Amino acid sequence: MEELNNIPNELLGGKRETVMGNDEVGMLHAIVESSKSKDPSTQVGAAIVDKDGNLISVGCNNNPAEWEDKNFPFGNEGDSEYTKYPYIIHAERNCLANYNGDKNKLQDATMYVTLFPCNECAKSIYLSGIKHLVYLDDRRIDDSYSKGARRIFDNTNITYEKFNPSNCQGMIASFIAGNEIELLPLENTEDVQRKRKRF
Ligand SMILES: [Zn+2]
Repeated sequence: MEELNNIPNELLGGKRETVMGNDEVGMLHAIVESSKSKDPSTQVGAAIVDKDGNLISVGCNNNPAEWEDKNFPFGNEGDSEYTKYPYIIHAERNCLANYNGDKNKLQDATMYVTLFPCNECAKSIYLSGIKHLVYLDDRRIDDSYSKGARRIFDNTNITYEKFNPSNCQGMIASFIAGNEIELLPLENTEDVQRKRKRF
């Protein structure tokens, strides 16, 4: 039988050298998911990617989808009953609630979050079995809730690291600058026209 693995070296070049890795894909999914949050002050997104780099769940900070907006406030001041806090589910817990797959798969999955988690989400992350977390924004990492989260992670062998935006610097920078995603119309940009001509 003919040997099929002997491809001449000169035919092996030309592949793209710079492609997005699992971390970049995971964080971009988390950022896109954050844009679905109706929270007027802080939009947060979370995504879970399995060990093979496949997206297996997403979530943002919102009320459960089926709740009537008119029955639940979204403010953050005054009597707590009339603020968002009793009713909103954080992105990490929504992301875990949205996961319908095999729980064992979470053991070697990674959760991507656009904002460092609070202590309540840290407990849920621990219970889920997820062992690794990548976060984008650490502006609250020293508040008491996030310190609690770090104490939980450090004592339960959950590792966490700040996201390093290498191949998607521009998209991440614009998100950090505005804390929301600018949905640009692409149709008439020269860039899109140029790309289309290539196919
Ligand atoms: Zn939380």
